[in-house]
Amino acid sequence: MTVDDPAPPVVPVSAEMRYAKVRAATDHTTVGVVCETPDGRVTIACACGMELTNGPTWTLDEHIRLHRAEARYLALSAVAPPGIPRLVPLAPTTASPATASRATTD
Ligand SMILES: [Zn+2]
Repeated sequence: MTVDDPAPPVVPVSAEMRYAKVRAATDHTTVGVVCETPDGRVTIACACGMELTNGPTWTLDEHIRLHRAEARYLALSAVAPPGIPRLVPLAPTTASPATASRATTD
């Protein structure tokens, strides 16, 4: 490979997606210790500010796992290449004027 080689290096995962995954992991670490509420639930805070807890049909660990998976999905989805096939449809963004006018004429 020379300095004049025009082909960029091929990477299996973009830096943006790698960074999003790491950022999601660090933004959603549990902080403090597990606390027990007067009604018998157990809770722990997340670095994002959300209180994670158990419930009538789920454990605290299940909530933590789901929370981290959702955070990772949102972070990766936001920077994923356009057009990539998805299991979960991309949430609609603010409609452009072209989309809005098309919607009213259909
Ligand atoms: Zn969080």
